[in-house]
Amino acid sequence: MEIKIKKAQLKNRKKKPVDETKLGFGKVFTDHFFNVKYKDGKGWYDPVIEPYRKLQLDPTAMCLHYGQEIFEGLKAYRGPKGEIYLFRPTENIKRMNLSAERLCMAHIDEDLFMEAMKKLIILEKDWIPHGVGTSMYIRPTMIATEAALGVHPANEYLFFIVVGPVGAYYPQGFSPTKMYVSEEYSRAVRGGIGHVKAAGNYAASLYASRIATNMGYTQVLWLDSSEKRYVEEVGTSNIFFVIGDELVTPPLAGSILPGVTRNSVITLAKHLKTKVVERPISIDEVITASKNGSLKESFASGTAAIVSPVGHIHFRGKEYSINGGKTGALAQKLYNEILQIQYGLKKDPFGWRVKILDGKKS
Ligand SMILES: *Cc1c(COP(=O)(O)O)cnc(C)c1O
Repeated sequence: MEIKIKKAQLKNRKKKPVDETKLGFGKVFTDHFFNVKYKDGKGWYDPVIEPYRKLQLDPTAMCLHYGQEIFEGLKAYRGPKGEIYLFRPTENIKRMNLSAERLCMAHIDEDLFMEAMKKLIILEKDWIPHGVGTSMYIRPTMIATEAALGVHPANEYLFFIVVGPVGAYYPQGFSPTKMYVSEEYSRAVRGGIGHVKAAGNYAASLYASRIATNMGYTQVLWLDSSEKRYVEEVGTSNIFFVIGDELVTPPLAGSILPGVTRNSVITLAKHLKTKVVERPISIDEVITASKNGSLKESFASGTAAIVSPVGHIHFRGKEYSINGGKTGALAQKLYNEILQIQYGLKKDPFGWRVKILDGKKS
């Protein structure tokens, strides 16, 4: 399928942000976006990169009523010679289709998805910031657009991709977060949709997040929904603990999102000869390990920050510090290694980097 490109008129183009340190996250988007429509019986049609605009939806578009909405999040990175990389994009493409499958939405052609991302990023390449740590965030999204009420899988969908420059997550270096253990609320249940990137999961998480924020905490540490005993995720990231000399993370057992960064951390830690164990970890074990000193580090993993160290845990009215509230050595090491692979600053032994545009010859 040929992707049509309709360029925005020069006079309608936005001003690009000049100060890369003020970019933040998710506020600035580029001049164009990609979209393609789907209808049962017809398949995907009219793929186009066109000037960024508002969407037109019928008020009964099913995504607005029954929550058939899924998304992905990945980044494009600028290398030292101006070359452009994606990081393990095939993993996001596959995960998007697993999300689509779980929500009875249309399967998206993997090649079309990849082609759309490449074409859009190359068209918008001047928007990619330059500093290490800055990048172009990519947000592929699929929504049900069939205009009808009544609960059933929609027969029409829109898949779109927007991109925008984002700032460095740690412009002043790491600042370890404080997490609040929620025993009352759940993000996801086993058998539910927690293992896919469905918009509804984030709506479900807001209430507990607000409680945590009001108490002065950065993130919610989610426990399993049935026993409220085992650790699952932190905020919208996967969670790791260093207990003794092992790196421990909960297994993907149905209510945990299989993070691309989680997988990269596991692979890289093993490569660095760290023992990695995927097993259930109870909150009691974490607290006991904190008390007896065997809990050396904890950090979250996700595309936004790569690795986000955790300095404190609040559980049942008490606060426990981890590594004296400071960033641990393993978190720092994994962060540096992954970042350098992403930006083309280091050999990529795992074949994670995908170059989508060559840089200047030196
Ligand atoms: C996206 C996400 C993650 C992290 O996934 P990455 O692929 O590493 O960015 C973890 N948990 C939740 C709930 C998420 O939505």
